[in-house]
Amino acid sequence: MSPDKPLGNFAPKDAPSYESIIQCMRCGFCLPTCPTYALTGRERSSPRGRVALARAVAEQKLEFTPAIKEEAFFCLDCRACTTACPSGVHAGEIMETCRAQVQSIYPLEGMQKAFRSFILEKMLPSPELLETAMIPARIYQKLGIQWLLRHSGALKLAPKWMEKAEGMIPELHKPLRLQLPEVIPAGGARRGRVGYFLGCVMSLMYAEVARQTVKVLAHQGFEVVTPRDQKCCGAPHLTEGDRDTARALMLHNLELFLAQDFDYIVTDCAGCGSALKEYEEMLEGRADHGKLAAFRAKIRDVSELLAEVGVRSEGLKPVNASVTYHEPCHLCHAQGISAQPRKVIRAIPGIDFREMKEASWCCGSAATFGLKFTEESQKILDRKLSNVVETGAEILVSGNPGCQLQLAWGVKKAGLDTKVMHIIELLGEATPD
Ligand code: SF4
Ligand code: SF4
Repeated sequence: MSPDKPLGNFAPKDAPSYESIIQCMRCGFCLPTCPTYALTGRERSSPRGRVALARAVAEQKLEFTPAIKEEAFFCLDCRACTTACPSGVHAGEIMETCRAQVQSIYPLEGMQKAFRSFILEKMLPSPELLETAMIPARIYQKLGIQWLLRHSGALKLAPKWMEKAEGMIPELHKPLRLQLPEVIPAGGARRGRVGYFLGCVMSLMYAEVARQTVKVLAHQGFEVVTPRDQKCCGAPHLTEGDRDTARALMLHNLELFLAQDFDYIVTDCAGCGSALKEYEEMLEGRADHGKLAAFRAKIRDVSELLAEVGVRSEGLKPVNASVTYHEPCHLCHAQGISAQPRKVIRAIPGIDFREMKEASWCCGSAATFGLKFTEESQKILDRKLSNVVETGAEILVSGNPGCQLQLAWGVKKAGLDTKVMHIIELLGEATPD
């Protein structure tokens, strides 16, 4: 995406490109793949309808109306339509740029503006602030206040989104960024040197997953370096339409990771991986092209890397369990990584792998969608869980912290005894300490 090019009734800053919009030939192949169209049956909530709205704004047939603002945020950005589209239209990404337009055309004011700026411009770019902000949540769990609130039924009085957000918090541990040794040597014959991109949610909510990633990669023969100065990948900013802060974070991570001689830059978070792979496009015309290409060539999801080099099976213990796999949208649709996680799961001895129906259908988490649209999110989740139940699998595996939070919450709420795990936790169980 090159620096700002005005387009029709869009604000000049961060307008979508006209080429991306006019590729739509209105064939409708995307319609059956879109969760918000399945929920509403409304053309404007379909990929084709959303692109048509954007085209009308681009061609000055329509102002950027509140309806377009709503659709920009009602889109899950799951990218299922991109996988289905024969013309290469990226409706989710077009809606992502429309979210940035919302900030220009309908700017927030007063406290709302100050709160948004604090979260996006101050808190998320600062690992230290993020880690400090989690201390009260850990105290809340440690002192048993969480248990008390959950068992007293008091949360039923809170707004739906708050009740859900509270119910989703997993057991918290100290964030890993400063605890992890910066360099962990490779075990056995060395296969390369990786820079580990930790990710905010993984580090803060699922510190144990991050610990397993490092253990598994080292056992698989990689020297693992976790640069302490890394910052948020910028994905939450893209989701919320703050592309300036996203670019500042991207430039920081680009320089930091390229300064070290890594063979690969690895993440265990599908959302981070998708954003990291978009640096090239987001920073086009703003950073050195050679650097952007070199950075892009090194990025791997952890399952992508392990499938590429082959899982080393020596020393792995059997995990005797039935397992099914939910594909995170930002892994299968945004990055085209679908076969690789299955290959990794099947490489673990003892696993009885069971494919689920609609494995690549969104779980309804979709960044903040699950909290902004709790009812719709629940319906999408119910569809997912009924497919999980049909497999009879004991373990539900995924590869993204957002999916994991949503699925674990859904499983608990539905009273299921399915265990929700990250793929790397599963491989971690098979890997000796
Ligand atoms: S977005 Fe793609 S699949 Fe959907 S109607 Fe347009 S061209 Fe067809
Ligand atoms: S990104 Fe997902 S929710 Fe958005 S239009 Fe495409 S399929 Fe529908």
